Amino acid sequence: MTDLVVEKDLVASVHYTGTFPEDGEEFDSSKGSVPLSFLVGHKQMIPGFEREMMGATVGEKRTFTLPPEDAYGQPSDENVVELAKEQFGEITPTEGMMLMSDVGPFKVVGVNKETVKVDFNHPMAGRTLKFEVEVMDLRKASTEELLHGHAHGPGGYQH
Ligand code: ZN
Repeated sequence: MTDLVVEKDLVASVHYTGTFPEDGEEFDSSKGSVPLSFLVGHKQMIPGFEREMMGATVGEKRTFTLPPEDAYGQPSDENVVELAKEQFGEITPTEGMMLMSDVGPFKVVGVNKETVKVDFNHPMAGRTLKFEVEVMDLRKASTEELLHGHAHGPGGYQH
């Protein structure tokens, strides 16, 4: 056992389940998989998640609800843009399609003759999120992890 608590520059491994509080629908969970590992205090996680877990010990369970401001933020019209159809190359965009770009994933929200309207807002922008989290392990981060700004190993980056 360790007497470490969740704080900056430690690697925390957690099991978590995320639900939408309005209807209880689960949007993500680590259950049945390896715990998620992250480097605390390096913006790997949404801001409210780390804040709510600070000071937790191994084996501790916490449940909290985050407003959009502490999660993925509010959707903005500035993130909805029109792109020329030819930019899609081989892909034929259709409404509702999720695609990947250099600056992150986006959703096709409208297809016109020459242009395609796309939404770069995070799919969970504007949502209030509830998390149930259990701390499975805590350890000091390696120098390499601190340099990279993320956790390595199972549940973290593997490279
Ligand atoms: Zn790395």
